[in-house]
Amino acid sequence: MASMHTNATTMYFTNCSSSSSSTARLLHFSTTKLHKFSNSISHFHRQINLHQYRTSNPKFPKSILTHSSSSSSSSSSTVEVKSEASAKVIDGKRVAKDIREEVAVEISKMKNEIGIVPGLAVILVGDRKDSATYVRNKKKACDTVGINSYEVRLAEDSTEEEVLDHISKFNDDPSVHGILVQLPLPSHMNEQNVLNAVCIEKDVDGFHPLNIGRLAMRGREPLFVPCTPKGCIELLHRYEIPVKGKRAVVIGRSNIVGMPAALLLQREDATVSIVHSRTKNPEEITRQADIIISAVGQPNMVRGSWVKPGAVLVDVGINAIEDSESPRGYRLVGDICYEEASKVASAITPVPGGVGPMTIAMLLSNTLLSAKRIHNFR
Ligand code: NDP
Repeated sequence: MASMHTNATTMYFTNCSSSSSSTARLLHFSTTKLHKFSNSISHFHRQINLHQYRTSNPKFPKSILTHSSSSSSSSSSTVEVKSEASAKVIDGKRVAKDIREEVAVEISKMKNEIGIVPGLAVILVGDRKDSATYVRNKKKACDTVGINSYEVRLAEDSTEEEVLDHISKFNDDPSVHGILVQLPLPSHMNEQNVLNAVCIEKDVDGFHPLNIGRLAMRGREPLFVPCTPKGCIELLHRYEIPVKGKRAVVIGRSNIVGMPAALLLQREDATVSIVHSRTKNPEEITRQADIIISAVGQPNMVRGSWVKPGAVLVDVGINAIEDSESPRGYRLVGDICYEEASKVASAITPVPGGVGPMTIAMLLSNTLLSAKRIHNFR
């Protein structure tokens, strides 16, 4: 066992040390680069989502939280670090595949029994290549599970009224059970107006204020939960990781990931803290966590020393950093320094191949859920 101090400059895990050096720079992807990865890009609203999946991990291991062989005081400023990675890898790619198969089976049953096929409508405004890629991948995912997909493409200079008009038609169309407006919208449109126009029964993204409001309230049920945070919690469930009574820390508080993730954890009876850009000494808070969900967009920000031994780590962040050894000149990393944290945690999601694949699986699942609810099919 080696001892690792919290001061980042004393860390000897060089793969992540670069995150604090001038050589690691967050890259902004050109759409050309995005296209190279179009097959692995999934549902994503603000930033890139690129995946190369790992495949060799055990399925649904039991009792992950008891897997760790070490423990420490939550307030300790140093942590014991094993020389080899000890954390189980939470294989989002495999779980997402299982979910897609389950969704496909249910859709086939629904079609056979009541003749209904779920439908997902996507509205794309403008000619952003990354958005077009996301939409194409959503359509492909729908095709694989048997969901009908409908697409409207509008020019960049379309009016907000035109978008609202299409939303209204999809709201009234009985063959459509889910409606997505691909973000970002052109700057002359009011995103809030547009998203609010999607009827709550078809809001498969779960971004409607009524759905988020219900998520936040005790005794109320949202019709849909946003796909990425739902995917995080689904991973915990499928790996039988206990949440009730655990201390959870969510890093990031965005409307689409961090905030709903914290609400979901709270609904599952975790005691939840939220870390954001104004939080002082975040590592003191994360070190108390049994479960960390990180959705920040800062490469390798969460160091091994931020993690309580035995904690479960869910890394939503996807960041491209320069890598001269990669033929592409960059590589993708999460918010969590995998090399360090996997030696301390009991379970961890990789990037890529962790949360990313779950997002689109949850979109398919939400669309099925919507169709079942609308047609009262159980
Ligand atoms: P946002 O930029 O909307 O939110 C980022 C959050 O992180 C904010 O709440 C911000 O705090 C907080 N933050 C920023 N810097 C720090 C810091 N240094 N310390 C603590 N908190 C900080 O991002 P998103 O939520 O949309 O996305 C987050 C990450 O998740 C990105 O890497 C994105 O690419 C990825 N993502 C992945 C998806 C997937 O399918 N796997 C889907 C969606 C996103 P504040 O509120 O104070 O500004």
